[in-house]
Amino acid sequence: MKHAHVGVCLGLVIGVVAAGYGRALDTGEAAAIVARGGYLIQNASLVLTMDPNLGDRSILGQLENADVLIVGDQIAAVGVNLSAPSGVNVIDGRGMIVMPGFVDTHDHLWQSLIRGCAADDDLNGWLNRCVLPLNTSPFSETDAYVGVRLSTTGLIDTGVTTAVDFSHAFNPGFVRGNLRALTDSKMRFVFAMFGAQSDGSDIIAAKREFIDGNPLATLQVATHPTPSLATHVKDMTAVARSLGVKLHVHLLENISQVDEDPLGVLQTAGAFALGRDLYTAHSIHLSDRNIKTLKILNAAVSHQPLSNMRLASGIMRYPDIQEAGLRIGLGLDGGTNDTTDAFNNMRAAVGLQRATLRDANQSPTVAEVLRAATLGGAEALDMQHKIGSLTRGKQADLIVIEQRALNFAPLLRPVNQIVFNGQPQNVKWVFVAGRALKEKGRVTGVDQGALLKAAQIATSHIMPFIQP
Ligand SMILES: [Zn+2]
Repeated sequence: MKHAHVGVCLGLVIGVVAAGYGRALDTGEAAAIVARGGYLIQNASLVLTMDPNLGDRSILGQLENADVLIVGDQIAAVGVNLSAPSGVNVIDGRGMIVMPGFVDTHDHLWQSLIRGCAADDDLNGWLNRCVLPLNTSPFSETDAYVGVRLSTTGLIDTGVTTAVDFSHAFNPGFVRGNLRALTDSKMRFVFAMFGAQSDGSDIIAAKREFIDGNPLATLQVATHPTPSLATHVKDMTAVARSLGVKLHVHLLENISQVDEDPLGVLQTAGAFALGRDLYTAHSIHLSDRNIKTLKILNAAVSHQPLSNMRLASGIMRYPDIQEAGLRIGLGLDGGTNDTTDAFNNMRAAVGLQRATLRDANQSPTVAEVLRAATLGGAEALDMQHKIGSLTRGKQADLIVIEQRALNFAPLLRPVNQIVFNGQPQNVKWVFVAGRALKEKGRVTGVDQGALLKAAQIATSHIMPFIQP
């Protein structure tokens, strides 16, 4: 929802000096308030900036009783006693926590339509019953649109501001529906497209129509590194290289894939030349040598703890991968298949390691998982110059969490409580590029009743093809 800012006095706006880390607004910023609006979150109980140059200088960059000023699509100031420039909307931050939005680094958003499918099966059984049969189904543009809208609405609700969608791109209509829904969500998104054309012409066409003109959109190329798809891996590697984008792959998600030597498949295909543009999801069954190889390449790793539990896939060697210095982000996977809850995902990331290693001091710690869910994800995507922390000049992708709630109060150690007690219902505001996508606890711009009805219809269309 856009707010009107008629009658804003430019002179007044320019003259305002923000205290703390702030300073006077320049003419461009003043004009941005007039054009796009602005918000001042005032007196927030806690601000986690994720910027170690701010606040307590920890990796979380914490400030107490502080303000965050959003002007246009950017973070204009973070500090204490900031003045409210004329024309901005003031949000009372008392009892609230402000932090960067979550970055969901690996998902398949259409899969919201198969929630609950084959709950008694592991990855391979679930794929065979719920996903692979759809390769030959008439998956329509509308059904893809609805599934992705359902996922993105849930993601916004939980405070995800950037989603990476590994799209199976079943047919050209599906791709259009998928991308239209991502665009309409107003989220920041990364579209990882599994191309059908060996020369990448379908990917290039999608890029021209949906990515190039949208400042919130980024492209990746997707493939599966298995011997049976070696030609596809080679083709997609060439497309990714020629477009200068990341190659997004599932890597060693199931133990059965170890014998297929997926890293060998990638090497043969020339994907090692991508270096830091090699982007690997799951990465569970990595040997010491595999971790070393990924480190030499400077590849990024996306971790899906909830999905890995649900599909009996295994537990990623988080402490070893972090120790090796690889970039790690968190992902919900599978159309936020069983839950869209980003808090639950952080809890699972922490809990899996503690339960397995019987050590409460293993990585990720609470601070590390909060970082991985935000700035870490941005780094994995090489988008840290733009998002991931509340640093002046970065995009205003941030969330406001209400701590006065049955599941969250009383305040004792609020940082720990975000991870161990947080739920989507505690997220009151979600901003992407300064636009409020969740306002006072309600996702904006979506008729949820109509969406749920449409999702039931879409699922009824694919139901005959799957074995739930
Ligand atoms: Zn996946």
